Amino acid sequence: MKKLSLIILGLGVLIASPTSAFSKTNIFACAPEWGALAQEIGGDKVHVYTASNANQDIHYMRAKPSLLAAMRKADLLICSGASLEIGWLPILLNKAGSNQVQEGAIGSIMASDYVPLLDVMQEKADRSMGHVHPEGNPHIHLDPNNMTLISKVIAERLSEIDAPNSSVYQNNQATFESNWKHAISQWEAQATGLKGQKIVVYHKSWTYLLSWLGIETVASLEPKPGVPPNAAHLEKVLQDIQGKNVKGILVAPFESEKGAKWLSKKSGIPIIKLPFTVGGNSQSTNLKNMFDDTLKRLQ
Ligand SMILES: [Zn+2]
Repeated sequence: MKKLSLIILGLGVLIASPTSAFSKTNIFACAPEWGALAQEIGGDKVHVYTASNANQDIHYMRAKPSLLAAMRKADLLICSGASLEIGWLPILLNKAGSNQVQEGAIGSIMASDYVPLLDVMQEKADRSMGHVHPEGNPHIHLDPNNMTLISKVIAERLSEIDAPNSSVYQNNQATFESNWKHAISQWEAQATGLKGQKIVVYHKSWTYLLSWLGIETVASLEPKPGVPPNAAHLEKVLQDIQGKNVKGILVAPFESEKGAKWLSKKSGIPIIKLPFTVGGNSQSTNLKNMFDDTLKRLQ
């Protein structure tokens, strides 16, 4: 009897709670940056499931059962697109069956469809080029101006999917955009000294960040996209960067530091480990803090 009344009490709490997950719009975010942005716009009206963490390489995830379960519940999907998630997202969507998050549907946002893409390939891609992204570089979130554009798309879609809360989403977006614009101008002021500096990257994960700040990429540790550094290529990079006054070697939390350490030892150029996304280090607890920390480490 006691047990039963406890269950009833528990049910009562569940039903009475206005913040119950059942009434919220479910968002499936492929990566932490999209989860964080969706949370900024959705506030307490959404439940965000983030499919990966900052230590995972999003190119190489697996379509695990836990991801499938979350996908089946999703009202809105937010991913980078431009083939970034091609190894696992189509499998998940196919298994999840028809719902509103399928490609082209109202509940599907492929963020790279809404921003100007860099590194768009003119020639046809083939396997010899490595793991290339023919539609353009999909690592778009590190130009903060792209986040402004995508925040608008998220607000529009949430307003359609959950019309009664439309004004909440529009207000959250307006607040985000005004705070974000202010932050961007501060970051740009902080970064004026970085313009024209040279950097070595591991993968082309940083293209949008470096293009935004006017920093030049002089070499990649990967001989081809997706192919890990090898001795011959690293030797060549070491030769190529001689006398170029390179500021640092950028590495993301999920990238191996082995090649970077070798190059750093031989050249005396420091490794700069940037958070890459929300959760990429202990400082990067949200989007603003992640950019703050990135700018600080680049100084
Ligand atoms: Zn990539």
